[in-house]
Amino acid sequence: MIIQDSFKINTNKNFEIIDITSQINNLIAIENGIISIFSKHSTSAIVVNENEKGLLNDLEFMLDNLVLDKFSYQHNRIDNNARSHLKSFLLSSSESLPIKNRKLDLGTWQSVFFIELDGPRHNRTVTLTMVGE
Ligand code: ZN
Repeated sequence: MIIQDSFKINTNKNFEIIDITSQINNLIAIENGIISIFSKHSTSAIVVNENEKGLLNDLEFMLDNLVLDKFSYQHNRIDNNARSHLKSFLLSSSESLPIKNRKLDLGTWQSVFFIELDGPRHNRTVTLTMVGE
């Protein structure tokens, strides 16, 4: 069985980390299988990690120090958000995760995050594709 669904996210800041674990669990429509969680935007990301405030601040700090403001990126001639795209390249636009007993089968300290890299934005779309039984 293959089931597809999606949901929208509105973001409030230029950089924002949103825990979407419970939203995904609420939309899971198979007992066991695999789910692809995909952001349809090239200035955002989907990642799995620990929902600890200091660590999430560290992620922002790391990305800002990897993709420095001081360079003149070519994409800025188009729409001035090269750094947002480049941070997205370093992360990922999707995760594939196991589903067990109609829930994400995550580790104790793992959450699924939508990362906004060029907000604030309305109607960011995350698509879910579930394959299983
Ligand atoms: Zn752009």
